Amino acid sequence: MVLAIECRLSCCHIFLATSSIPHKYDKVWCVKCDTSRTILVVKEWHIKCISCKYGRFCGSSRSVANRLAKQHHNRTGHVVKIMFPGKPAVTLGDEEVTQSSFPNLLDT
Ligand SMILES: [Zn+2]
Ligand SMILES: [Zn+2]
Repeated sequence: MVLAIECRLSCCHIFLATSSIPHKYDKVWCVKCDTSRTILVVKEWHIKCISCKYGRFCGSSRSVANRLAKQHHNRTGHVVKIMFPGKPAVTLGDEEVTQSSFPNLLDT
């Protein structure tokens, strides 16, 4: 049920978390270094409402992030940010970003 989530470790190697949801600053075993390292970046989709306290971590699934953001926006009219480490955030609900252009933005 948990997909592989990419994490960047303190040694700059990539760790793939498959059995549990990783968190920043967790200690995991780096097979390349053969020692335990700290997770610095969890490559995980994350949505955050800029109008209220709503926010969700969505693992490696972009479609889940997309769907939850749309649901929240449709229900409340709030502006929701969709974020992923290393990519520019996509804002849903801004005047600039209409819902029809939204899927295209995510595909780039
Ligand atoms: Zn390493
Ligand atoms: Zn909200």
